[in-house]
Amino acid sequence: MTTEAAGAGALLTILRDGRARTRAELMQLTGLARSTVSQRLDALSDQRWIIPSNDAISSGGRPAVAFAFNAGARIVLAADLGATHARLAVTDLATQVLAEHSADVPITDGPEKVLGWLVDAFHRLLDESGHTLDQVCGAGIGLPGPVEHQTGLPVNPPIMPGWDGFDVPGWLGRRLGVPILVDNDVNIMALGEHWAASPEIEHLLFVKVATGIGSGIITEHRLHRGAQGAAGDIGHIRVTTSDIVCRCGNTGCLEAVASGAALAALLRAAGEDAANSRDVVALVRAGNARAVQLVRQAGRDIGEVLAALVNFFNPGGIIIGGDMADAGEYLLAGVREVVYSRSLPLATQHLSIRVRQLDDRAGVIGASVLVIEHILSPGVIDEAVAAHA
Ligand SMILES: [Zn+2]
Repeated sequence: MTTEAAGAGALLTILRDGRARTRAELMQLTGLARSTVSQRLDALSDQRWIIPSNDAISSGGRPAVAFAFNAGARIVLAADLGATHARLAVTDLATQVLAEHSADVPITDGPEKVLGWLVDAFHRLLDESGHTLDQVCGAGIGLPGPVEHQTGLPVNPPIMPGWDGFDVPGWLGRRLGVPILVDNDVNIMALGEHWAASPEIEHLLFVKVATGIGSGIITEHRLHRGAQGAAGDIGHIRVTTSDIVCRCGNTGCLEAVASGAALAALLRAAGEDAANSRDVVALVRAGNARAVQLVRQAGRDIGEVLAALVNFFNPGGIIIGGDMADAGEYLLAGVREVVYSRSLPLATQHLSIRVRQLDDRAGVIGASVLVIEHILSPGVIDEAVAAHA
């Protein structure tokens, strides 16, 4: 690490990672002079980013003071806005949930009504957790549609009338007075699962199978969003020569044959009572043979796309999330069957394929991670330190 690179923000990253805990260890790791390290530690302490930790380290002589990242230094607001349901939380800087709330809020109510509700709900949650807005370092918002990464604007979201191009970061930023980070729901779920359940997996593919199908791509522990933020939209990859028309206008899309909505439609055509993906899962759990067969085949269709993606991307893990993940082994069996037989042996040698671990909390945790990774990035910490110097 060069001297210029090791600003206060870089030292904070090292303390968070646990690569160093004391002044001496930081000097050794960064090559910085004692006075420089001390100055940066003082600046970080002044803003409460770090606190002395209890475990003083003794190496024979006088015990050295150890420092630890202070996860309570700031508060994060997080929201996972789905098609019909919203889940919110107030968390610390380690994604520990301090207060949470969920409610039925149709996204079709439009941006001003939904976001107005969100601002009020955030204020209520802050009260409940005993915090105030001036302790908040940012708000992370997940939306159920495509979001342009550079601007945080929804772009042609199919199920969100009135939201196309709406300035979500600007609108919320004016009312909350904190940085606003916006991403699509699948990306925040991928972040949440990676952070909380599989932090050791460097390259991860998260696949949401619910009403639609999409994926979030983690590479080198970070989200890969692509040039515009559209990476991972695997629901519209063609899997079959069938003529089933997809909502995108093409035929044979993965989503048109294997999503919860597609399976519910097939079950209804067969005389079953299935309005949505939850109902499909309920039928599977009740042992309905047709539902089991359809879910297994959906797993194979999803597996067909994933087999190609595994060869292309070589992930260390695949996580299946979304409502349909609750169909568990039946869905996984189909996915595994095709991926392990069709992908290259070197790519599948250590590949784990599992269902989500966080249930429907993954999105709100991921929305918090979105803020934490931004706020604690070395450049942003350096700016915060400089602003208060
Ligand atoms: Zn399509």
